[in-house]
Amino acid sequence: VFTVGVLSLQGGFSEHLVSLKRAAVHLQRNVECIEVRTPQELSTCEALIIPGGESTTLSLVAQQSGLLEPLRDFVKQKRKPTWGTCAGLIFLSEEATSTKRGGQELVGGLDVRVHRNHFGRQKESFVTNLELAFLQDSSVTDKPPPFPAVFIRAPVVDKVLTDKVEQTPTAPVEVLAVLPGRHASNKAALTGDEASVQPQGDGDIVALRQANVFGTSFHPELTDDIRVHVWWLQQVFMASTPN
Ligand code: GLN
Repeated sequence: VFTVGVLSLQGGFSEHLVSLKRAAVHLQRNVECIEVRTPQELSTCEALIIPGGESTTLSLVAQQSGLLEPLRDFVKQKRKPTWGTCAGLIFLSEEATSTKRGGQELVGGLDVRVHRNHFGRQKESFVTNLELAFLQDSSVTDKPPPFPAVFIRAPVVDKVLTDKVEQTPTAPVEVLAVLPGRHASNKAALTGDEASVQPQGDGDIVALRQANVFGTSFHPELTDDIRVHVWWLQQVFMASTPN
C-alpha cells in the first residue's frame, strides 16, 4: 500500500485527512491515509502533511514524542515529500522570527526565514482569492479559478536564506504564490530589512517549494476546494515513481 501520513500531534490534522482522502479518490489512487503520532508510524509513510496549529506547541509535543529527529531524517535525509501548512510551514523552515522572545526547535528543510503571526492581531484571520498558477492544468488554456485562501494568524516567508541555498545549488527555493500588494507595506514595516525584499514581486510569499518540501501560509484543508491537495498528491506520486 501507498501510505501518506498527517502529523496528528496538534492542530488541524483531521481536516487534512478528509481533504487528502478526497484527493486520492479524485485521482483514483489507492492511498492509505494515516494519523502519525509515533516514529514507527512515520516510518511507514511515503509522504507527510504537517498541519497548522501552534508551532511552539507542535515543536514541544514533537520533542516529547521523540519525533523531532525522525522528522528531520524524513525531510532532510530520506527527502520524502512533505507539506506544511501555516504552523507546519513554520516547522519546516530553517529560521522563524516572532515578536516573542525565545527560540523553538524546527525541523527545517526550507532555506527560508518565516515571520510568524505576520498579519498581527487586527488582521489575524481573513480569506482572500489567490491566483495559484501552479494549479494550471497543461491541457487547459484558461487560467485556473482563484483559490479561496484562508489565513489564520498566518506566517509569511520574509527572506530566502541565500547563503544556505548556495550550499545546495541543485534545490532552489521556488516561490509558488505571493499575496499581492495590499500587505506588502506591513511586511516592510515589520521586518525593516532591505534584504528581505523578494525579486518575484512586491507581495508576501505564501506558497513555496524547495525540492521535496512544500509550504503554504494558508489552509487549503479548511475549504471544500481540494485542488492543492490533488496537486500535491500528484507531485508525491511523480516523486515516488522511478523513471
Ligand atoms: N500563529 C501560529 C504559529 O505561529 C500559526 C497559526 C496557524 O497554524 N493557523 O504557530
